[in-house]
Amino acid sequence: MPYQPPVRDHVFLLRDVLEIEKYANLPGFSDASMDVVEQIIEEAGKFTSEVLAPLNAVGDKEGCHWSPDHTVTTPKGFKDAYAKLVEGGWPALGAETAYGGQGLPHVLNLSFSEMSSSANMAFSMYPGLTHGAYSAILNGGSDDQKNLYLPKLASGQWGGTMNLTEPHCGTDLGLLRTKAVPQGDGTYRISGTKIWISGGEHDLAENIIHLVLARIEGAPKGVRGISLFIVPKQIPDAQGNPGLRNTVYCDGLEEKMGIHGNATCVIRHEESIGQLVGEENRGLSLMFVMMNEARIGVGLQGVAQAEAAYQAAAAFAKDRLQGRSLTGPKNPNGPADPIIVHPDVRRMLMDSRCVIEAGRAFLFWTALHGDLAHSHPDAAVREKAGDYMALMTPVVKGFLTDKGLKVTSDALQVHGGSGFTEHFPASQYMRDVRIALIYEGTNGVQALDLVGRKLAANGGRAVMSFFAEIDAFVAQNEKDEGLKPFVTGLADAKAKLQEGTFWLMQNGLSNPDNAGAASTDYMHLFGLTALAYMWALIAKTCQAKIAAGDTDPFYETKVVLGRYYLQRILPDAHAHLAKLTSGSELTMALPADAF
Ligand SMILES: Cc1cc2nc3c(=O)[nH]c(=O)nc-3n(C[C@H](O)[C@H](O)[C@H](O)COP(=O)(O)OP(=O)(O)OC[C@H]3O[C@@H](n4cnc5c(N)ncnc54)[C@H](O)[C@@H]3O)c2cc1C
Repeated sequence: MPYQPPVRDHVFLLRDVLEIEKYANLPGFSDASMDVVEQIIEEAGKFTSEVLAPLNAVGDKEGCHWSPDHTVTTPKGFKDAYAKLVEGGWPALGAETAYGGQGLPHVLNLSFSEMSSSANMAFSMYPGLTHGAYSAILNGGSDDQKNLYLPKLASGQWGGTMNLTEPHCGTDLGLLRTKAVPQGDGTYRISGTKIWISGGEHDLAENIIHLVLARIEGAPKGVRGISLFIVPKQIPDAQGNPGLRNTVYCDGLEEKMGIHGNATCVIRHEESIGQLVGEENRGLSLMFVMMNEARIGVGLQGVAQAEAAYQAAAAFAKDRLQGRSLTGPKNPNGPADPIIVHPDVRRMLMDSRCVIEAGRAFLFWTALHGDLAHSHPDAAVREKAGDYMALMTPVVKGFLTDKGLKVTSDALQVHGGSGFTEHFPASQYMRDVRIALIYEGTNGVQALDLVGRKLAANGGRAVMSFFAEIDAFVAQNEKDEGLKPFVTGLADAKAKLQEGTFWLMQNGLSNPDNAGAASTDYMHLFGLTALAYMWALIAKTCQAKIAAGDTDPFYETKVVLGRYYLQRILPDAHAHLAKLTSGSELTMALPADAF
């Protein structure tokens, strides 16, 4: 079954659960009435399912082609689809109106991004990274740089990349060697090799703007000596058209496990001409703007691949006939029952769907805080929203992609042997999503960021406000009989998260290995609690609809999924707390040569 964009679920979340119309007084939101939002989401669904989804398997099978003249050809159909993407104005959805964008809320852009990624993850990475480059220049660039680059990045006419990784330097950017030599005319000559650069070269856009981390000669060692540069493939001329070919070359493509339609490039900077963005040696903090946005985008890939894989698994389970139901035949006239009658197959489908739906809610809820942090008139709201964005970003990235892999693996399992073959799409979803646990900072590094930096920032202000928000929800709703399981489950998960947080405060500082060994379990405990909160919000919305006489099974289905989450997924919180509070002694007990 081809991918079906979950239009109704997106509209339900934005209109009924997050109630985005409440923010109509904020810039961007004033143009996003629910009529407009619904129309955009429906069109997004059409574009992604009709234009991008049919190219997903094509991109996987064909991959990208590199030529010795340093050019890269994307899979058949990608170029045409990209032209339609630009023509439809999709890349400009969330970009600022000052640079030709539509200035709509980012949370709405996320809806489009999820559908694009479900339809074709490899394709959607080209505009995804371009938007990251746009944000880095918007945040740190000079007015001239903004005026020159942003309109064309916003429209997608030019592509963008991020050039961080080098052969000897991945997680530890302090080891970075690419050097930048000032030319005395405001430009720099950049030399060095970057590897695994997504969209580093392709035939989709008329120019490619690389955002490059490099070290200016004489800069301090480590991360404090890194600067950020704009290195255009074609240096724009006075009219802003792609001019002189810069000395930045794609020397090859990686053979890889998934996302074959996305060009993963070795990029050689041979004294390429670059312009500094912001101040010298401040590159990493500027790049973090891009990386934080990209991390939310990667968390989204976890949900998006999970959604597409789940849909394929559900369709297969209704079609494939094997065995009989334990409680008597459900397809008595057929040779066997469809496998969806088997509780173990149901378990996989239910596990998947209740994580996808709450995961999406968590993603949208976090992105909405990003919008509020940008544009809410009340400084206190902006501060809290900014705190949440910082705190939740590693959880969105790490937890949702770990879950994305689990869901795509379960979806493959539902397909049985067919899933392992390439006749069905299950294997591609699992192969494609795997990278999401690695790039933009591995999930282990996200967990360390959460426990090492985000929890402690501003004296723990962000996590304390999250606890207070959950306490307030519990206090407001504890007398509601219908919501009881949701309120009790949430209160219990929050108590465990609080216990884990206090344990880290007491034991992580005295022995940092305790924090390191606990970090991934803590991130999962956090994610499980956040999803319990999302299910409580969704259930409250659905129960209000049901109480008002709405008999649409859509709402009752959500309540059942939420209750399943509480019974069958949330108990994992207990195991994560037990593991994280066990300390690091045994984890670190053996000497390295015992492995
Ligand atoms: C398909 C693909 C696309 C990519 N796209 C881009 C791109 O567009 N731009 C770009 O710049 N890069 C890109 N990358 C690079 C990617 O961001 C890195 O692979 C990633 O950051 C991890 O670095 P590494 O592979 O060197 O792993 P390493 O840093 O060598 O890590 C190896 C393992 O050690 C762990 N580890 C490392 N340090 C620590 C620590 N301090 N504490 C705990 N654990 C640690 C890691 O979690 C990991 O499990 C891409 C990579 C791939 C495969």
